Amino acid sequence: MGVERIRPVRPRVPATLAYALHRLLARNGAYRRLAAYVERHPVLYRAFTAGERVTKERLFGCRMCGQCALPTTGYACPMTCPKQLRNGPCGGVSPDGSCEVDRTRTCVWVTAWTRAEGAARGADLDLLQRPVDNRQWTRSSWVNYWQGRDEGLSVAHDAEDPRPVMVDRT
Ligand code: SF4
Repeated sequence: MGVERIRPVRPRVPATLAYALHRLLARNGAYRRLAAYVERHPVLYRAFTAGERVTKERLFGCRMCGQCALPTTGYACPMTCPKQLRNGPCGGVSPDGSCEVDRTRTCVWVTAWTRAEGAARGADLDLLQRPVDNRQWTRSSWVNYWQGRDEGLSVAHDAEDPRPVMVDRT
């Protein structure tokens, strides 16, 4: 079996539209109950997860890490970074913004910065992203989010007070 080649993906929807859609899907009691119901039914869960995969793969290049960072990265998927960096770029970004691993593509973090700044959300990129929990790969990030499992996925930090501060991702 060959090794999957990971390449930076440029999202297919404008950031402003993605933020608007997120507001529609923001966690609430109804979505939490829906997520719990879906999880209790394995066939339904598989179908729901397959739908999420198809949708997000086409729009964002989603790789189904199950712990979605999109709302805090200008909707540029950090898991399409060939180095899987979730907290900003490596030192290899070229002056023209291309990826060190694939010079034909723009660095995911350059894309994230451009999109977040354009939507007045540049401060999101200051948040610290928790390391990926590898047990969540292939799981539905929507179900995880609605079930509240993304609590603490991003934390704010303050040089004066290094204690992590939970971030509301809605
Ligand atoms: S679930 Fe993970 S892999 Fe999929 S878009 Fe979100 S961050 Fe990227």
